Amino acid sequence: GDPQAVPQAGASARPAFDVQAIRRDFPILQERVNGRPLVWFDNAATTQKPQSVIDRVSHFYAHENSNIHRAAHELAARATDAYEKARETVRRFIGAGSVDEVIFVRGATEAINLVAKTWGVQNIQEGDEIIVSNLEHHANIVPWQQLAAQKGAKIRVIPVDDTGQVLLDEYQRLLNPRTRLVAVTQVSNALGTVVPVAEIVAMAHRAGARTLVDGAQSVSHMKVDVRALDTDFFVFSGHKIFGPTGIGVVYGKKALLEEMPPWQGGGNMIADVTFERTVFQPPPNKFEAGTGNIADAVGLGAALDYVERIGIERIARYEHDLLEYATHGLIRIPGLRLIGTARDKASVASFVLAGHSTEEVGKALNQEGIAVRSGHHCAQPILRRFGVEATVRPSLAFYNTCEEVDLLVRVVDRLARARR
Ligand code: PLP
Repeated sequence: GDPQAVPQAGASARPAFDVQAIRRDFPILQERVNGRPLVWFDNAATTQKPQSVIDRVSHFYAHENSNIHRAAHELAARATDAYEKARETVRRFIGAGSVDEVIFVRGATEAINLVAKTWGVQNIQEGDEIIVSNLEHHANIVPWQQLAAQKGAKIRVIPVDDTGQVLLDEYQRLLNPRTRLVAVTQVSNALGTVVPVAEIVAMAHRAGARTLVDGAQSVSHMKVDVRALDTDFFVFSGHKIFGPTGIGVVYGKKALLEEMPPWQGGGNMIADVTFERTVFQPPPNKFEAGTGNIADAVGLGAALDYVERIGIERIARYEHDLLEYATHGLIRIPGLRLIGTARDKASVASFVLAGHSTEEVGKALNQEGIAVRSGHHCAQPILRRFGVEATVRPSLAFYNTCEEVDLLVRVVDRLARARR
């Protein structure tokens, strides 16, 4: 094996995780920033792309580019095959029962808006209640607020404890016969909390409500099986799982998708059009009006293939160890307050540093080539729950190393000890 491979607890029982070999798959990790090697700790915002994804998108434009479904010629067949193969890859990756349950959209934000503006408009009525958690990203708050305002419905919020974990007993008390939908994130982008979504879904179903799980921060860090979760809807973004931007997914149970009205109207989503009426295609095409992001869907397929080759369980174990290592390093720094201390966390170590603005910390890290996000992370309600408006948020992926974490801790520690 590679002499630089990072050892793991219990590694003798399984092959070591060769992080240096993985790093060679990501060309951008060779970049230098401010004269230093780039350290990419902004994975919750977006992830870097392996060469296989870059090559796949390039190959599409060089050898397969065409619009899909419509024209009867060789390149249309190649493009259609590539696009539908990517849909099958997504189906397999998330454990959906059928490719008809996989809808391509721009990303998690568009995915949630699609569900709000189709299923939501059809099913939410005055006096109905939609439950979200205190942890949600704005993308899983605002569309429901807009829907609630339009319909005269109410938003209820599952509170969290002081570690940033949702309170299931409080959630149970919120559930009632008016609850129509429970929409929760699987991993908090601001704190890293892993939310017990299987339990939340089961409780929602017992109360007769539908569920949407926001997988934007979970799919790249843990095994997701939508059928095991039994969630009605599941959404994620391609760019947060080593795929291109501008592509994402709505998974929906087939029976629900069939009942839902279409969202946008246009080409591709129709079976027959006259000036009097339109007959729609069955799902997923019913929800894919117009020319979609064909090349990037194909790129997303390549990204999921790449993750599958490495193995999501191995990734999860490596990242778990790395996050523990980072957490132990950070909490020893004087004046550093970790925000989000739940037992079950993925990727994220959000913090504030006494006497230094989050911006200042971000700038100091950037000077050393380290990219983190400083700000509200599009999750203002949860930061305010902890009495802050912003945090510094390093977020890890499986191409990060202990050495990179050491550098992060060193730079923050130096800043913490500098005269204020
Ligand atoms: N949900 C969560 C938990 C997120 O972290 C994000 C992105 O930061 C989104 C939704 C929105 O994803 P996108 O901006 O790719 O649509």
